[in-house]
Amino acid sequence: MANKKLFGTSGIRGKIGSEVTSELALKVGKALATYLNYEGTVVIGFDTRTTNKMLEQALTAGLVEGGIDVIKLNMVPTPLVGYATEKLGADAGVMITASHNPSQYNGIKLWNANGMAYTPEQEKEIEDLYYSEEFGETRWDHIGSIVYNEEIKNQYVNDLVNAVDIKPGFKVVIDCACGAGSEISPIAFRKAGCDVITLNSQVDGFFPGRNPEPNDANLGSLKKAVVATGSDLGIAHDGDADRMITVDETGKVSDFDKLLALISKGFGGTVVTTVDAGICMDEAMAEVGGKVVRTPVGDVSVAKSIIEEDAKFGGEPSGTWLHPDFCMCPDGLLSGLRIAELVSHEGKLSELLSQFNDYPHKRDKVTCSKEAKVKVMKNMEDLLKDAFDDIENINTIDGVRITFDDGSWVLVRPSGTEDYVRITLEAKTEERAEFISKTCKKIIEANI
Ligand code: MG
Repeated sequence: MANKKLFGTSGIRGKIGSEVTSELALKVGKALATYLNYEGTVVIGFDTRTTNKMLEQALTAGLVEGGIDVIKLNMVPTPLVGYATEKLGADAGVMITASHNPSQYNGIKLWNANGMAYTPEQEKEIEDLYYSEEFGETRWDHIGSIVYNEEIKNQYVNDLVNAVDIKPGFKVVIDCACGAGSEISPIAFRKAGCDVITLNSQVDGFFPGRNPEPNDANLGSLKKAVVATGSDLGIAHDGDADRMITVDETGKVSDFDKLLALISKGFGGTVVTTVDAGICMDEAMAEVGGKVVRTPVGDVSVAKSIIEEDAKFGGEPSGTWLHPDFCMCPDGLLSGLRIAELVSHEGKLSELLSQFNDYPHKRDKVTCSKEAKVKVMKNMEDLLKDAFDDIENINTIDGVRITFDDGSWVLVRPSGTEDYVRITLEAKTEERAEFISKTCKKIIEANI
């Protein structure tokens, strides 16, 4: 990876062998020890992938060689690393995971002492140390210790259970994708009083049950299981359980935006979301006199904004939700428990989601080289201003997002990982959606 950027949009992630190796993990361990000034404690966890221990041991070697004490959690969901880092008073946390990517991938994500993911600025410092290899001397009399902590898992589950009040008899099917939520998520729901049926909840790094990306196409078994068992709710985690999405009692995967609006409305006050979230967020929060703050895509941006705005909640439409009253790490277990709590008290999920308006959605993309992406995005704000005369406001924190006078919106944003400029929009009518989409597409194509 000599000429590449080490960190991507969510930590270090890549294919085992060609991109992610034990050498890389060792060097990241040394870089992190150097960054921490050869003092302190680091918590390490991993998901269920076949390559986890290989990377964990290499990373641990790098850390203890640099004088850092290591607390190992073994296989845990990502939110437990964030939680444990804060609760155990550690200086940093490391999660070894490739989240929703297939089995042949793995990665490393770093966490701050307060349970919040490393910012791009912090990652850049680690990256510079990684490539410079200025790690300092190995001192035989300053080698870190290694301990295991199993107890923190119980504390985490107890705190989760105490954070919610689910009506007794609530029936839920939990699909963990054989990932990091497998053991602990069903335990947490049971302790919270739910009647739990599990699916793909045996630990298996080959992900034999389903692809770890929780989307409609991958959740056929969960949809059937919820209906067949007469359950109130289905919960699907991704590979590291920092997020979840739901299946309602009719076996339908919930609309991501509507689910986010539903939970946000319950919090009230200020909530944070990303530029790609839909109109129902604004409508829901307006109804309860709340405020919506939008950030660039990514959980670190959401976390930063939660702190700045003193917000009660923040979430992305992907089901990556942050609960600052609990921890600054996205938590798929708490997100699921909080939806279960809400549904158990307020009625069927399908009915609760039907309160939100259905507006025509459109997603389109224009193929663009890396260079062309930069060129076309440079003047995008002006180009869109010239093309539309009913603009209410423009947000340029991540791409260009325009809200029109009638409440319709469009986001023109270069993909972070692929050669596309994407157009995402929601409009009040089909005709309007078609018009906005065509206009943006024409502008992009004319300016590549
Ligand atoms: Mg994840």
